[in-house]
Amino acid sequence: MSRRKIAAGNWKMNTTVSEGLELIAELGQQNIPADVTVIIGVPATHLHPLQQAAASQIHIAAQNSHHELKGAYTGEISVTTLKAMGLTYVILGHSERREYAKEDNALLKAKLDTALAAGLQVIFCCGEPLSVRKANDQNQYVQTQLSESLLHLSADQLANVVVAYEPIWAIGTGETATPEQAQDMHAHIRAVLTKQYGQVAAQSTSILYGGSVKPANAKELFGQPDVDGGLVGGASLKADGFGSIINSFS
Ligand code: PEP
Repeated sequence: MSRRKIAAGNWKMNTTVSEGLELIAELGQQNIPADVTVIIGVPATHLHPLQQAAASQIHIAAQNSHHELKGAYTGEISVTTLKAMGLTYVILGHSERREYAKEDNALLKAKLDTALAAGLQVIFCCGEPLSVRKANDQNQYVQTQLSESLLHLSADQLANVVVAYEPIWAIGTGETATPEQAQDMHAHIRAVLTKQYGQVAAQSTSILYGGSVKPANAKELFGQPDVDGGLVGGASLKADGFGSIINSFS
């Protein structure tokens, strides 16, 4: 798969199903350029109805999936179910799941393997907390996240992964990484991928920035050479604002 421009939304645990249906219909009214892939991560309860209702250029994503295919895992979601529903994407490794559900790099490695083996495409999130950024250790921190969860994949498997760099200190805080900070980390991630997989695979991988992306800053962030789009939380909950983010690629 080649490097794509991607505007991904993450609704987290927001909206009822009927509000979600309304919002996805409003999103379908937005102008979506042909070369931009739009993916919306919705609550598990919304997956089926929104998958049925979404306009064809909007891809519905799960926000999590389990590392086992089935079994006694109350409250969990299997990749088999997601595939059977016709879904293509799952978000794995979001910092909120790492923090609140205690998902670590080893578990995320297993989840990635299971999701990819099922034929899903994965938006794999990584990113450092504030303390690590203050110590200027962010490059090593993110590299460890990648090496412990993702770098064992084959180049063919990597083709079904989108990396989302989301510095935790910028998520839901209103504080955004500067375009330079985002570019520096994205270039670092691409260098790590180049070392492991070579130029062609690394240049083909989309790397998204996440952390308080909004209409006012999307253009500058997406204009960075290694930023291929965004993973957007709060600002994806308003159709016109997200529509403007979708149209922020040059
Ligand atoms: C996110 O949920 O991944 C995120 C980046 O949230 P926000 O855009 O609200 O910071």
